[in-house]
Amino acid sequence: MESNENTNAKVTAPPASSEAVRKSMQGNKRRDTKPELVVRKMLRDMGYPGYRLDWKKVPGHPDIAYPGRKTCVFVMGCFWHDHEGCKYASKPRTHSDYWEEKFRRNKERDARVRAELEELGWTVIDIWECELKKDRIDETRERLQRDIEYAFVKL
Ligand SMILES: [Zn+2]
Repeated sequence: MESNENTNAKVTAPPASSEAVRKSMQGNKRRDTKPELVVRKMLRDMGYPGYRLDWKKVPGHPDIAYPGRKTCVFVMGCFWHDHEGCKYASKPRTHSDYWEEKFRRNKERDARVRAELEELGWTVIDIWECELKKDRIDETRERLQRDIEYAFVKL
């Protein structure tokens, strides 16, 4: 007998209250986002190709991973990961309870994943989306290079 009962009812997100929120929502969980592509290109240009994408054998499925070197890079969207003090992390004014809860959970998960990875001996490098804007990208490239070099010699 067929049941019409929907047991998989999902909690639906409230409608986006602004264009920026809508764009951020669309950007969530998408593969090959522009910031990620920018970081991948940086790594290749620095002479570190050979990364794996979305590495599923460790917690958090890092966007970019060098499993042999136990090093990974997370490209963090400022909105979704609630980048503290960042202008791109502005909170939607409507449905604030929903968003507060969502951001709180995202941050909790981020912290847990980091702790788990570090326990496994991994070096975790974060690149925030805002660090890839034109005025900061050179600085970010230098920082990434230093972090990667440091991570690679530690083993
Ligand atoms: Zn930011």
